[in-house]
Amino acid sequence: MTQFENSLEFAHRMDADDGLKRFRDRFAMPLSADGNEVLYFTGNSLGLMPKTVRSYVEQELADWEKLAVEGHMNAKNPWLRYHEFLTEQMAAVVGAMPIETVVMNSLTVNLHLLMVSFFQPTSEAPFVMIEKGAFPSDQYAVESQMKCHGLDPRQFLIELAPRDGEATLGTEDIVATIEEYDGQIAMILLGGVNYYTGQAFDMQAITAAGHKAGAIVGFDLAHAAGNLHLKMHDWDVDFAVWCCYKYLNGGPGAVGGAFVHERHARKFDLCRMAGWWGHDKETRFQMGPEFKPLPGAEGWQISNPPILQMAALRASLEIFAEAGMPALRAKSEKLTGYLESLIDGIAADRIEVITPRDPGQRGCQLSIRVRGGDRSLHQKLSDRGVVSDWREPDVIRVAPTPLYNSFDDVYRFSEILKECLA
Ligand SMILES: *Cc1c(COP(=O)(O)O)cnc(C)c1O
Repeated sequence: MTQFENSLEFAHRMDADDGLKRFRDRFAMPLSADGNEVLYFTGNSLGLMPKTVRSYVEQELADWEKLAVEGHMNAKNPWLRYHEFLTEQMAAVVGAMPIETVVMNSLTVNLHLLMVSFFQPTSEAPFVMIEKGAFPSDQYAVESQMKCHGLDPRQFLIELAPRDGEATLGTEDIVATIEEYDGQIAMILLGGVNYYTGQAFDMQAITAAGHKAGAIVGFDLAHAAGNLHLKMHDWDVDFAVWCCYKYLNGGPGAVGGAFVHERHARKFDLCRMAGWWGHDKETRFQMGPEFKPLPGAEGWQISNPPILQMAALRASLEIFAEAGMPALRAKSEKLTGYLESLIDGIAADRIEVITPRDPGQRGCQLSIRVRGGDRSLHQKLSDRGVVSDWREPDVIRVAPTPLYNSFDDVYRFSEILKECLA
């Protein structure tokens, strides 16, 4: 355990010891109106642009310009196989095997595609389990799929809620609810990290309990990918989806990711939405009438992918490969622990951290509840060059990321927060 000290000198010592500090320079930091760099804490919403993105995208523009259709085969990075250039690095980020991983579409689209295959309710097992207050898109996607199966969400949707007076869910409570519905749950779908509270779930324990109860277990990794040190394969998760514009710095509207466990890789008879990009590569261009899916996650692709977006994401994944999730996570625990220790010293009558105290139960984000839901605090922070976000009814989310935030950033934030509350 690092002993944190409330001083700029300590923050600078931590930065001097930070083996990852060289990465900050690889990102474009926005400037505020006064021309100074902002204090950017919204990598959980849109990650900063890696400076290499421009050259990666320009390479594909240049090949399009010079080669046009020939670029599919003859571009420096042939477009026909472009998504494959991202697979290995993406797999490493989520702790998966390459055959389990594909970069395609966007998060909610991937969630629908994988639910079509893995959400197969029966009369014995019609229930679905999610978090109460799940991200709206997940809630809409799940309820719409239930309705397609003729299931009324009011009857068959189980929404896990914290105990009275608590902000986050206990793993033992989640497991107990799963056991209570033993044999009756078709699918459990939770966020890896809850977007609102910042709570990270024990995905391994939940998956084990879900499987024991006969359920398929999927995770939405929107706030977990590039944040936690994930082991989707070892944890035996059935499927997962994520977006790449948050911690993965893939840019606005970045292509998303999907994970399908290896044990499902060759279940070619699963119900699925077919399209030519999921078809066997060897025979795709014979243009035959019969769909022959690729083994693994690639078999869920439908359309040929957006190369310019993939190029941007590829630039970012190179950085993740160089830094490595274990090192990023180790720094992240210190950075967020430091933020927590500094906030704890400030105006407890006005604010409170609702994210779990245990570093094992959170990612980099801390959610600060403002008592009385006074939104003006968030405005004051913005006026001082802090980029954080406000979530109704009363939470400011602050996410120091290990790739481009420093201990100095965190210290300066805490000083500004203190002044805004004074
Ligand atoms: C960000 C986020 C989304 C966004 O979905 P898109 O399909 O990428 O627009 C969905 N679910 C969760 C939990 C998120 O945090």
